[in-house]
Amino acid sequence: MFLINLSKNIFVVVKLRKCPKCTSYTLGEKCKKCGIDTCNPHPPKFSLDDPFLEYKVKALINSLGERNAKKR
Ligand SMILES: [Zn+2]
Repeated sequence: MFLINLSKNIFVVVKLRKCPKCTSYTLGEKCKKCGIDTCNPHPPKFSLDDPFLEYKVKALINSLGERNAKKR
């Protein structure tokens, strides 16, 4: 008889996706209700189309620089 604790060794990655039409969450690539492609509900913070990208990156670099300065 073997006792195996599966819960500690098994990692399940669930990728939630969202239907842009009915805004319902699903695990599938397509919405079961609408039959259209679902999209990632959590888009990346930085987009190349973002007109404020330059300012965001500069602010990020500045904040990183301040952190490094505090460490020293
Ligand atoms: Zn849908």
